[in-house]
Formats: sequence, structure tokens, C-alpha cells
Amino acid sequence: MRGLGGDVCDPTSDNPEERCQFDTKSYERTKNIDDGLTTVCPVCRLFGCTGWKRRFELQASATLSEPFWLATKDQYGKFNHCWFSKIYKTTDNHLAFGELTLFFRWMHGYESQHKNVKALLSLMSHAAAIGPKPQYGFGVFSFQNSFSIQESLSIIQHEMAGSGPKKSPSGVYPSLHGYWLLQCTVPASDVNPEFSSVTGFGNVQTFNKYQSRLLPVSFDIRYKFPGSQQKGLRQSYRLNHGKMPARQIFGTSEGDKLASSVFVSHLYKTNETEADYQLRVWGFTDSGLTDEIENSLKTIFPGLVVNKNLNGPELLSDSEVSA
Ligand SMILES: [Zn+2]
Repeated sequence: MRGLGGDVCDPTSDNPEERCQFDTKSYERTKNIDDGLTTVCPVCRLFGCTGWKRRFELQASATLSEPFWLATKDQYGKFNHCWFSKIYKTTDNHLAFGELTLFFRWMHGYESQHKNVKALLSLMSHAAAIGPKPQYGFGVFSFQNSFSIQESLSIIQHEMAGSGPKKSPSGVYPSLHGYWLLQCTVPASDVNPEFSSVTGFGNVQTFNKYQSRLLPVSFDIRYKFPGSQQKGLRQSYRLNHGKMPARQIFGTSEGDKLASSVFVSHLYKTNETEADYQLRVWGFTDSGLTDEIENSLKTIFPGLVVNKNLNGPELLSDSEVSA
């Protein structure tokens, strides 16, 4: 909702003014729930805040839980392996894989919210990913019976239309106004020679098991392509624009840590019988960056084809028309 310009709080803010809280005093005076909720934003009304319980229970289960794994073109002991060891202090973790089932149970009177959550999940499946560390390639999923992007945006915009409390958190947040996505097909003839000698990180058995349909090499593509001084999205951006702008866009773990605004999936196949791979790259930056990213991708994979090119401002103007 914040990404669509809605007035929502920042539950992670250190400033209590920027977080929602149920107004217990007002509620005690009138015993009317609405009086306690006047300062609570639409998101906290659903997900809860101090004094106000979440309106649903969520159960998640995955058909497979596999030991953590990644891969890189770099050799053992080289740069990317050092990075992985730094980011993932322990590789003793498991990842949900295969089919993921989310089961929502709603509190009485909130059943209609199921549609909103379905719209959110639909958006994530079409336009981004689910779960932590999407910038490292995790979380791309397809959602059965999903709404289209336009339907999802209309549903969420409709939900925002009610006048909520004015919240203006001081942080800088990703917004659909700066959003873009490139959904690409990468021919096997570009992938196979490049990644014929990848090395696994974490559980090598899982890596071998899924190698024919999932090459978890997001890091090589997003950062710096091993064996090249020019290739890799961050590396080519850095060569064109300099070190500090590259940190602004691709994040840094030095000094004041900064999250990446560009996200790159692993190379994956939606169906094991396909020869070619899929790659999803998206971001929250000036829209002018899309062409540059596409060109950088093509220096790694010359035969890459962009199948779907989404652009936040266009999505927003289309959904306003259809809303
Ligand atoms: Zn809130």
C-alpha cells in the first residue's frame, strides 16, 4: 500500500510517532472499536500493532525443505565464495522448495480481506518474489488462480480509498512509481558454456539434484561476473557511473548499510523439459535504468530476450483507468 502512495506507518521505525498504536483510552471511554482504530493505518488494521491483534492466522507448509545451496562460476576460495561465507554465516539452513501452501484463517468480520491478501500475493508472483533475500535470487514463485496485475492493483487501490490517518514516515521506501521489471528468456546456448564449471556453496548434493532446472547463480549476474572485468550488473554500472552511485543502486554492506534496489532471480526453468532458462530482474530506481540493465544482461547473455517489460508509472495509470 505504501508503494502505491497509501498512508501507512513504518512499524520498524524507532520513532513511536511513525508507528501505529491502538488508542486504548478512546476505546475505553466509548467501548467502540472504531474509536480505538482512528489512528491505525489500513495495513496495521490487518497485520496488527501495539494493542491490536493480527486479524488472521497463517499456516505455511512446503512440499520440500532442502538444505541451503547456491552456486557461482568462481572457484572455491575465490571472491564470491568469500562473499557467500560472509553473508551466510551458517549454511546449516533449509529452504522451502516445490509447492508452498498458505492457509489463512480470518477473524470473524474480516473474511472479505482474503481477496486483498490474494491480490498482494498475485502482485508478488507476477512482479517480484516472496520471502527474505530476493536480491540474492530467492522467492520467485507462480501462484495458482492468481489475479492479473491490473486486477490486483485495482483491488488494493480500492481498499486504500477510505480516508485513513495521515502517516508520513521519514524513511525512503520503494514505490511503484520507480518500479520496473524485465522477465527474460536466456537460451541454453548462452547459459551452458558459461556455467559448465560452476561450484556449489552450501549443500552440494542439493545443488546437483536441481542443477538441470535451477542454477542458483543470481549473485554472479547481479554483482560481478567471475572471470570478467566488465560483466555483471553492478560491475558495469560501476564502470559507467562510479563507485558511490553503484552503492546507491546495488546496496552496500560498508558504513551506513544500504539495501539493494535491484533484484535478480536465479536462472530457472518453469518446466524441466524446457531447454532455455528464465531470468527475472526488477528494481525500484529511475525508470531510465531499464535499458542499461538490459544491455548489461546482453553482454553476459547475447541471446537474451525480454518477454515482459513492466513499468510502474504505466501500471499505475492503467489501473487508475480501470479502477
Ligand atoms: Zn500502521
